[in-house]
Amino acid sequence: MFDSLSDKLGSVLDGLRRRGALKESDVDQAMRDVRLALLEADVALPVVRDFIAQVKERAVGQEVLKSVTPGQMVVKIVHDGLVEMLGGAAPSEDGTPPAPEGLNLLGEPPVAFLMVGLQGSGKTTSTAKIARRLQQRDKKKVLMASLDVYRPAAQEQLKILGEQAEVSTLPIVAGQQPVDIAKRAMQAGRFGGYDVVMLDTAGRLHVDEGLMAEVAAVKTATNPSEVMLVADAMTGQDAVNVADSFNKRVGLTGIMLTRVDGDARGGAALSMRAVTQCPIKLLGVGEKLDELEEFHADRIAGRILG
Ligand code: GDP
Repeated sequence: MFDSLSDKLGSVLDGLRRRGALKESDVDQAMRDVRLALLEADVALPVVRDFIAQVKERAVGQEVLKSVTPGQMVVKIVHDGLVEMLGGAAPSEDGTPPAPEGLNLLGEPPVAFLMVGLQGSGKTTSTAKIARRLQQRDKKKVLMASLDVYRPAAQEQLKILGEQAEVSTLPIVAGQQPVDIAKRAMQAGRFGGYDVVMLDTAGRLHVDEGLMAEVAAVKTATNPSEVMLVADAMTGQDAVNVADSFNKRVGLTGIMLTRVDGDARGGAALSMRAVTQCPIKLLGVGEKLDELEEFHADRIAGRILG
């Protein structure tokens, strides 16, 4: 992800860095190039506009043109702007980057994690990845349950992933409906002394009212501490619209972006936080169950700018 964006921004900013003095027109031209590179990477237009306006304002405010190293100052302003766009706070005084926003495990155990998203986004795989990490690294006892009663093999798929990840799954009861499965999972979680119950909801090909109503009903029944949208980075601009719809209708607490290992242009990642105000918490970087990364805004910004 970000390869092409990184190439383009890298060459614009390298050009600035190399120059000794800068004229206002140089900065304007560079900002036009940055704007174009972001749009080509599928970043949403309003997000690009805000970003460019903010960078320009800071460049004027900090009197960049009068400084000894104007090019480097512009690069730093663009970098900090990217970090903010991605949802990261500014680094602390001593330069230590802020910690990524973690998963919310607060509350009376078992806490529920609701995994939502479109079909094929990587929801089931991501559920197993997170469960595996919570159990292995964080020493939490995790139970997973699939609420997908529409796709024939969905519940079976989670069971198989559970076996691979060595995470328990709720026994399958044929014919049971999503809200009832969710309630049974929470009960099994309570009786079994689990810390976290992960609920993998059904996906559809498109956002529709039936899907939203079902997710909302499961949310009401389980009061989850995380409602995590799983979104495929490869779907670009559409992923942002999906995130916006889910957030408005059911309320999200976090986003997991999948297929970050692919050649997505990266605009989805850059726009999602700005559009939904909801943090990207995790990245899926491959098909394997350990291919999960925390989202560090500063590292991503660094990767984009090279
Ligand atoms: P669901 O329909 O949303 O539950 O999607 P699945 O979990 O079944 O995933 C669909 C496909 O995407 C599977 O082949 C997964 O192995 C693959 N997948 C999931 N996450 C990632 C990822 O981060 N990177 C890559 N390359 N493939 C992924």
